[in-house]
Amino acid sequence: MKTHDSIRILERMLEEVRTLDPVNVRTWFEDLTVMNFSGGHMDIGCPDETKAHYLQDHCLPVFTQAAQRVTGYLVSLGFHSMESIPAPAAAEAPPSAIRLHPDYTFENFVVGPCNRLAHASCIAVSQNPGSIYNPLFLHGSVGLGKTHLLHAVCHDSRHSRKTLSIQFLSCEQFVNGFISAIEQGKLPEFQSQYRTVDVLIIDDVQFLREREQSQEEFFHTFNALYNNRRQIILTADCAPGELPSLEERLISRFKWGLVARLDAPSYETRIAIVKKKAHLRGIDLPDGTAELVAEHVQSNIREIEGALTILYATAQTAGRPITADLAREALGIQQNAAPRAVSMADIIRAVSGEFDTRVTDLQSKKRSQSIALPRQVCMYLGRRLTRHSLEEIGGHLGGRDHSTVLHACGKIEDICKTDSLLRNRIDTLTGKLTQVS
Ligand code: ADP
Ligand code: MG
Repeated sequence: MKTHDSIRILERMLEEVRTLDPVNVRTWFEDLTVMNFSGGHMDIGCPDETKAHYLQDHCLPVFTQAAQRVTGYLVSLGFHSMESIPAPAAAEAPPSAIRLHPDYTFENFVVGPCNRLAHASCIAVSQNPGSIYNPLFLHGSVGLGKTHLLHAVCHDSRHSRKTLSIQFLSCEQFVNGFISAIEQGKLPEFQSQYRTVDVLIIDDVQFLREREQSQEEFFHTFNALYNNRRQIILTADCAPGELPSLEERLISRFKWGLVARLDAPSYETRIAIVKKKAHLRGIDLPDGTAELVAEHVQSNIREIEGALTILYATAQTAGRPITADLAREALGIQQNAAPRAVSMADIIRAVSGEFDTRVTDLQSKKRSQSIALPRQVCMYLGRRLTRHSLEEIGGHLGGRDHSTVLHACGKIEDICKTDSLLRNRIDTLTGKLTQVS
């Protein structure tokens, strides 16, 4: 349905969405079309299935609100892929356990000396799974692109060989799936689900620490796949040999194939990443601005997204275009009276000091109360002092989802109502973090 009216409606909806939710806006939104609009329901066509899922997962409320504002009616929405119907064999392949992010492709990955080997090995593996680097083990600190590369492998492999069966899951999902399979007496089903795939991708295997039974299960899964020349790809926050309390026989297997480390990107690579991210989000950066952002964000690339959001939001609120001056102001680069832009790294560092908890514990999956409370304080401060989305905040704290962050914020607010000690500690932290340097 490409009538003049429907094109106009969509254009106006996109304008609304851009102001309502700039963080999730992408330049490819321009390729959306209205397939059908009748009886209070609008079907929106998307370039492919991954993008339809992205919209469904991240943008449904904001598009619904935009549609209602533009049409003046209560409208329900559906997003649909315009891709050709997949071949029957592809339809039978087991679905990936997590949805792929449309941004996380090889095309959108900036290659530099810090990640060249990891990138090249991922490309090689996606072209020839099971034959060259098996297993492929990627490691590096948080926010350096491990998960991005895994998604890119899936995107590429799915495209080149539609019949390939891929399982992509976080280690936490593997462990939880294993535990519930035992509880429900469905272990054989669980085992065949993972031992028969062409490619098994498990993100953040450091989560296997201290989980003996899961390690045993994973060991047998690994052997079954390896012996059948199926591809295994793993990531962790440290090298195989540094994974404490992991069985030696697993560690040695992790080293059988290729181990590739991702390092923090250099200034030049960071500039290229800033430009790439801005382009994806349709943000125009005048000369010199990407350089300022790259200077501001040094270690965790995830913070680039946050910095761009702050930049965009500051420009919108002030009704000014993005300029190098505005960037300096928004990111607190110049030592002037503007409030300091607080980053998640600042918050995590400050909370770690105040509560005498290690940064790695705050970013781990550990749930003991002594770590959970400071972690919730980080989430609360992240929400109050930065413009990161709930998902971004969760991403800095061990990849927690937005509902966990929201829950943490509510909980800290509740506790502060009665616990003046905690309230004072949070006030002191806030003071330190926002102090103009
Ligand atoms: P990790 O899994 O290592 O913690 P992610 O893959 O989640 O890190 O990456 C964090 C963010 O940084 C994502 O938005 C990702 O797209 C981005 N990123 C990391 N490295 C690069 C790169 N080389 N090029 C473009 N974006 C990158
Ligand atoms: Mg990751």
